[in-house]
Formats: sequence, structure tokens, C-alpha cells
Amino acid sequence: MSKITIAIDGYSSCGKSTLAKALAQKLNYNYIDTGAMYRAVTIYCLRNNIIKESVVDVPKLISSLKNIDVSFVYNTITKTSEVFLNGEHVEREIRTMEVANNVSAISSIKEVREKMVVLQREMGKNKGVIMDGRDIGSHVFPNAELKLFMTAEGDVRTQRRLDESRSKGERHSFEDVKRNLEKRDHDDTTRKENPLKQAEDAIVLDNTDISKEEQLTFVVKLINDLLLTRDEFNKPLAKH
Ligand code: C5P
Repeated sequence: MSKITIAIDGYSSCGKSTLAKALAQKLNYNYIDTGAMYRAVTIYCLRNNIIKESVVDVPKLISSLKNIDVSFVYNTITKTSEVFLNGEHVEREIRTMEVANNVSAISSIKEVREKMVVLQREMGKNKGVIMDGRDIGSHVFPNAELKLFMTAEGDVRTQRRLDESRSKGERHSFEDVKRNLEKRDHDDTTRKENPLKQAEDAIVLDNTDISKEEQLTFVVKLINDLLLTRDEFNKPLAKH
């Protein structure tokens, strides 16, 4: 079967990466977490005083971009690609609340987005890729064969993020997590450069009341139907 590009966009913490990872394993596709890329740039900015008290030193950030290398390496144990900043494994550090509270300010900068989008298009150029983020279907891969737009009710998303951070030993209140998600969604949907937006041809998936398994079954069927129709359509006509 031919390989396609799958774009998954949506609000913060609505299960994009959970779905994308499960799909990647099932289909043997490459999974790229573009949020991890913006988070890795944010770590660089925090370490180098480019962002302080949520204020970004934009000229310093732009001139530092040439020193920021973001890449992925496939981990055969976790069976997923993990993010590296200038050769350093930062998969754990990118998930901290400090990074979550600063990432939207960094991802709103045009030059940062341009650099990340070049890398994302390069990583997805051979298809067989599942990319999740905010602007994948609307901007990075507008011709993706399948576009999903995920959403879920705010309190459900907050609880999921809280459970995830608690499982890693972090202690945050429900209110702190909720505030962070609401602020990021607001900043991500209202920014000037490639805001979070549902592509016109995206299929909306609201997973407030469905399990991960039900969601995966639904999307796998969607993909199989799509691939069958495509391959049927692309078959050479029989010679008479
Ligand atoms: O997906 P995740 O929550 O890790 O994304 C972190 C942040 O990175 C988002 O809140 C958003 O500001 C930014 N982002 C983006 N465009 C993407 C992916 C993430 O602006 N394609």
C-alpha cells in the first residue's frame, strides 16, 4: 500500500501525541512531535536568558537561531522518536511547567516558526509520516492526505495533563494546569504567524467521551478506507 502524510492538529493536551504514537506503531510510520521542537527551542532560550519573566529578547533570539539545532533520534526501547537540542537529549526537560509556561511566546516568533517548518517539511518529504502540532494541516503539509483536528472538553484535558505530570512525580494543582492550557490555547489561536486553526478539510475528533482504544479503531478504519480508495484509484487500467 502507498504511504501517506497524516497531519494531527488540535488544542493542548487533547491526546494528539497518544494517538499519533499508536498510529505510527501500527502503520510503521515515522512520528514527529512538532511541539517538542518548539519546546526544545524554549529550553535554549531559558538557559541563555533570551526569555525572562515571559518577555522575549527577539533580536537575541533571531541572532541565536543559527546556534540552535533540533533533531530527533528513534529510541528502540520507548519505540518513539525523542528530541535532542544541540545533541543533548531533552525529552524529559521539555515537559516541565516552566517550559510549558514559556513555549507559546517563543513559538509565536516568525523566524522561529520558519526554521522549524523547514525542518518539518524535510522530515516529512518522503511521506509515511504522522506529524502533530498546531499548523500541520493548515500550513506545514496543506496537501496531507489525512488531516485530523482533535479537541476535548477543557476539564477533561486538564485532568489528563495533571495525571501525566503526577505520574512523573511532579506536583501541580488542577488550577495551575488548567490556567496553562487555557493561556496556551488562547495564545496559539490568536498569534499572527500560522495560528492554531482547523484546516477546512480536517476531520474533527472530539475525544471527551471516547476511550483511546475506540479512537484508535476509528482512525485506523479511516486510514484503511482512504488507502484502499487511493490504491484502487491509482491502479493502471487493464489492457484489452
Ligand atoms: O504540542 P505541545 O503542547 O507540546 O506544543 C507546545 C507548544 O508549541 C504549543 O502550545 C504551541 O505554542 C507550540 N506549537 C506550535 N506549532 C506546532 C506545535 C506546537 O506553535 N506545530
